[in-house]
Amino acid sequence: MRIAVCSGKGGTGKTTVATNLAVTASRSGRGVVYLDCDVEEPNGALFLKPRFTETRPVSVSIPAVDAEKCIGCGQCGRICQYGAVVVVNKKVLIFPELCHGCAGCWLVCPTGAITESHRQTGRLDLGWAQDVYCVQGLLNIGEAMSPPVIAAVKKAATEADLAIVDAPPGTSCPVIESLRGSDFVLLVTEPTPFGLNDLKLAVDMVRALALPFAVVINRADSGDDQTRRYCAQEQVDVLIEIPDDRQVAEAYSRGQMACDVMPRYRDLYADLLTQLEGRVRSLAR
Ligand code: SF4
Ligand code: SF4
Repeated sequence: MRIAVCSGKGGTGKTTVATNLAVTASRSGRGVVYLDCDVEEPNGALFLKPRFTETRPVSVSIPAVDAEKCIGCGQCGRICQYGAVVVVNKKVLIFPELCHGCAGCWLVCPTGAITESHRQTGRLDLGWAQDVYCVQGLLNIGEAMSPPVIAAVKKAATEADLAIVDAPPGTSCPVIESLRGSDFVLLVTEPTPFGLNDLKLAVDMVRALALPFAVVINRADSGDDQTRRYCAQEQVDVLIEIPDDRQVAEAYSRGQMACDVMPRYRDLYADLLTQLEGRVRSLAR
């Protein structure tokens, strides 16, 4: 079962939910893989504290030009939709950071002057946090394209009863790449006007992707009631509500997880896990 945990905006408690869910599932005997796809700022490791034992580079395909073979026909520049190849005065200029690795330019080149090369854009860290297998993606500083690193994180997942995808915040391409292949999506929100605005965008996104989903309301006793009303109107289920608890905030600031320091949160996340498993099972029937 693959569960993606995402939120329309940062700071709603997405990683808190993802890591507590991972630890709760692992302690109840399930094999768990935690996939940190928030590759611009992965912070699941702050709480899970894995011992990373392996690092793998993540590379993307880019063109390499052999000027000797180039006849300056301009076909590569015309086919590239991303402005990553430009032909000026029969000279080919490559802008690797704009390249999407689609292969168009080396397939269209009539003289074989362009060949496929590679450029490292990030890396994976892999290791264990007790019984949770952790894969963390890290995009190189200054890189714009995170989907290849996210795809590599997901590909590195080992077989497990439960894979938890900690998605980046927002509703753009990196989030969509993270959610692809999930059995169920958890949208974490908080009951504030900003939270509701971003929740609406996230709901539109998962509906467009035709993925089953439900909501977790974090800091549930803060803010107002508009989020619950919206969920009721839209027939979106709220699986659990997590209270705005000073003890949780203090544990969080020490890099500890709620399920480690307060038994009532173990029960809360166990309830969430049971609900998720029930939903995924009934969807599979
Ligand atoms: S591989 Fe595709 S995106 Fe990259 S430079 Fe060639 S045509 Fe453009
Ligand atoms: S398609 Fe090949 S031959 Fe034509 S300009 Fe590009 S690199 Fe040169």
